[in-house]
Amino acid sequence: MACAFAAEKLSEGVQCDSTKPSVPHRLNIDLLANQEEKMFVGDSVASLNEPMNVGFENVSYRVAEGFFNRGTKLLLNGVSGECMAGELTAIMGPSGAGKSTLMNILAGYTTGATGQLLINKELRHEDSFRRQSCYIMQNDQLQPLLTVMESMNVAANLKMSTKISQRKKKERIEEILHTLTLWEHRKVRTQSLSGGQRKRLSIALELLKNPQIMFFDEPTSGLDSMTSKQCVSILKDLASTGRTIICTIHQPSALIFEMFDHLYVLARGHCVYQGAVRQLLPYLSDINLICPPYHNPADFVLEVAAGDLGDHFAALLDRSANGTRDDWREIKKQNFNPMAACSSKTIQQSRLTPLNIPQVIFRRMKSSDRDKTTTCCESEYATSSLHQLLVLIKRNYIILSRDRTLTYSRIATHVTIALFIGYLYYGIGIEAQNMLNNFNYMYFSVMFLMMTAFNCVSTTFPSELPIISKEYFNKWYSLKSYFLAVTLADVPIQVIATLLYSSITYILTKQPTDEPYRIAFFMFMCVLVSLVAQSFGLLIGASMNVKNGVIFGPFCFLPFTIFSGFFVQYSAAHPFFRWIFHISFLKYGLEGLVLAVLGYGRGKLPCEADYCHYVHPRKFLRNMDMDTADYWLGVSFMICLIALIRIGAFCALSIQVRSRG
Ligand code: ADP
Repeated sequence: MACAFAAEKLSEGVQCDSTKPSVPHRLNIDLLANQEEKMFVGDSVASLNEPMNVGFENVSYRVAEGFFNRGTKLLLNGVSGECMAGELTAIMGPSGAGKSTLMNILAGYTTGATGQLLINKELRHEDSFRRQSCYIMQNDQLQPLLTVMESMNVAANLKMSTKISQRKKKERIEEILHTLTLWEHRKVRTQSLSGGQRKRLSIALELLKNPQIMFFDEPTSGLDSMTSKQCVSILKDLASTGRTIICTIHQPSALIFEMFDHLYVLARGHCVYQGAVRQLLPYLSDINLICPPYHNPADFVLEVAAGDLGDHFAALLDRSANGTRDDWREIKKQNFNPMAACSSKTIQQSRLTPLNIPQVIFRRMKSSDRDKTTTCCESEYATSSLHQLLVLIKRNYIILSRDRTLTYSRIATHVTIALFIGYLYYGIGIEAQNMLNNFNYMYFSVMFLMMTAFNCVSTTFPSELPIISKEYFNKWYSLKSYFLAVTLADVPIQVIATLLYSSITYILTKQPTDEPYRIAFFMFMCVLVSLVAQSFGLLIGASMNVKNGVIFGPFCFLPFTIFSGFFVQYSAAHPFFRWIFHISFLKYGLEGLVLAVLGYGRGKLPCEADYCHYVHPRKFLRNMDMDTADYWLGVSFMICLIALIRIGAFCALSIQVRSRG
């Protein structure tokens, strides 16, 4: 009776036990926020506080391998098990046993496994499941140039409904940062955080959405023993609030090992133990595997599973029935009791929010129906695409404003090279005897703008891919919003750098200034060339890793360079290759610059030498096969090219991000 009353009170956001120390205001505020979230996110759906037990039955997973992928390798072989809400589950096993594979399958990161994935014994709906769960990967993928507070703000604005007020979001951020002892580090950039702080921030970011199920891949890897213990005790506290916490762990200390409630041991892709941590040694001793005194049970079970103490694999497998037997569980099939949450140390200290978010409907369905049920649920993301775009653009501007390479050195390079080229070709624009030098200057400009724009962005996606994969998988935003934000954020910087280069060189080389449209045409064409190259950079970056991009990127510009009209003119080229001129954006770029400076009926140029071959600009245009060139045709071609390549880059990025799952 008392327990039921307490549970009721808890779900109302009221302190559950009057004998316990008073819960400070912060917790109540937080619960109100969740009620508010409930109204907006899932008012139509059912009950609160229902535990979500993550089950799996007869799960197998194969990968293709060998020559032409003709062979297959079985990584998991019909494993079963259940991780209960309110419990901290550890998946353990020797290296190569299949821990990460199982974790990725349970988290939904890897698809293609056979068998059944269940929630509360019913087949799970993947989309709903992903909204209620989060996956915190081994390498904390954080934006290095953002501070802790900025990262939290971005996450809150993406993961929490826009209908929740900024004040409530702030309060929730503050609560979580205090809980995870990150408040004093809120102004520190994530690149300067210690390993433990980075891990806590990763948890904090995901807690904003109050997930019911949390997966952690090796949460203690790279942490010292003290920090590992702190990290696992945070996970334990999270579990005691009713969440289902599942993590893979490799060789925990005895102290950390006994903090886990439930243990799932894998060996050679099979389950060799499933049950309570405290039942492990009796389980092993029943088959004459006695853990020596003063020996860490975690090390002992790993040695047994790895076969270091003899081949006991068959006996273990027989005993655990590949995870289908649960005789060694201590809380047998008992649902999470919210009363337990009240007694949680963390909650008593007003820290973590008891699980209090709407339960998504998990319909009973056949596995073949799994993909047809997407219509049953609400929108995939907490915020609209436009809102995501605005938040991500803001985030990118903060990052760019702090990124010395992408912003400051790009601008500095353009200005330095512009001054160098400007003085190298000083005043050539008004002298007939320097017509060819002027042409060289324009060709150099096209090449320089192309290479710098390409190089600056070709590493953007490869370096961000792990972060995007994590955030996209945890449903922070759609790829469309991310892609638009990245591309839109970089455009102004590239345009500014290009305008700086072209204006400095234009003035120093003394190109015509009496007709302003020539200046505008020149600058506009420079900007278009750099935007096409930038689009290529995005495409290459989205399609391959940095190493391949460095080799393949310049190589894909080669045809454009050869058929730009600088090395060989259209009329002199072999007819077989002439079509390439029509698709070479460098040819349109070079033509555009030449036309802007020398076209449109520009008059004779003064000649101070004994003989000047190109006194009439028209003669020069004729010799270069540019007398019939059309500036606006080039502009149209390049605008279409920018759009096409960016669509290609988006598709390549989607494939990359999805294939990482
Ligand atoms: P654990 O996390 O327990 O160390 P994993 O789940 O990462 O093990 O991998 C289990 C086994 O499957 C390992 O032997 C690994 O080499 C193999 N494996 C994983 N992915 C692939 C793959 N794509 N192709 C071939 N073998 C793989």
